[in-house]
Amino acid sequence: MREALAAAVRDVKANLRLCSVCNNITDLDPCVYLQQRHTQSEPGVRVEEPTNIAAIEKTKHFNGVYHVLHGSISPLHGLG
Ligand SMILES: [Zn+2]
Repeated sequence: MREALAAAVRDVKANLRLCSVCNNITDLDPCVYLQQRHTQSEPGVRVEEPTNIAAIEKTKHFNGVYHVLHGSISPLHGLG
């Protein structure tokens, strides 16, 4: 059981990449946020970290696209 969980976590990490459109950390490219939004009628918003997207999503007021700047932290590039 524990081994299966570890393997699942490993798979997720192996599949993570940056969205080619908005730079969000995702396992799908383009990411789910873009796939949900077939029209990009609203202007994009820049966020510093992928976690900021979750905070904005909770408000349900924003329906545009994101662009993640990743600040100075970039876990996919070995900087922590
Ligand atoms: Zn994206």
